[in-house]
Amino acid sequence: MIDETQVKAVVADVLEKFNIKGNVADGLQKLNVKEHVNEVLQNLGIKGKTSTGKAPAGVSNRHVHLSQNDLETMFGEGHQLTQMKALSQPGQFAAEETLHIVGPKGAIEKVRVLGPTRKETQVEISMTDSFKLGIKAPIRNSGDLDGTPGCTLVGPKGSVILSKGVIVAARHLHANKAEAEALGLVDNEYITVKSSGPRGTLFENVWVRVSDACALDFHIDTDEANAAGIKNGDLVEIIK
Ligand SMILES: [Zn+2]
Repeated sequence: MIDETQVKAVVADVLEKFNIKGNVADGLQKLNVKEHVNEVLQNLGIKGKTSTGKAPAGVSNRHVHLSQNDLETMFGEGHQLTQMKALSQPGQFAAEETLHIVGPKGAIEKVRVLGPTRKETQVEISMTDSFKLGIKAPIRNSGDLDGTPGCTLVGPKGSVILSKGVIVAARHLHANKAEAEALGLVDNEYITVKSSGPRGTLFENVWVRVSDACALDFHIDTDEANAAGIKNGDLVEIIK
């Protein structure tokens, strides 16, 4: 334990090294201790971060988002997705429909389609899946599909050869505006998330997505969740 006397002694010592005269309180004001401590930590490669609150984790298994056009090619003309289960994000759902993903080295069967349909088809797999399929999928934010590899999708009534759209989804955190404000989060920033337990892990580079169409959720894939021993709904710390 460090007591107040020791803190004052250390501060007085630091002030002396900075050639600042006067009592400790004066010195603290002149020195802006916080700024200097942060600078020292930064120089040491240590970021001065603290927890701003908690969020539940949501573990995403491999899945496919489909355009209406691709949906109809694989499931029949005029086909509409059938909702099986609502997801944590408002309006999003796991559909009854599944399809097969085929790559040069292998295939993965019965991959869940998520609804509603989107403008562009997007296939989200884990790094482990990418080896099985033989597809070098990059880590990308959702919707950032330029230059990504494609694959073949096979449904009950047809197949689609995608020229792009296969990604390993980058870890991200959703929050609505009120949740973001309470947690000190800003849309589009990158934060750190900390999990606890026997495989406690620091997740760097977590993309923050603030929108009132969102609910608080830390989204990672099955590889990341298994490596860190995280289950759906486990609480993680938001570190800024
Ligand atoms: Zn998400």
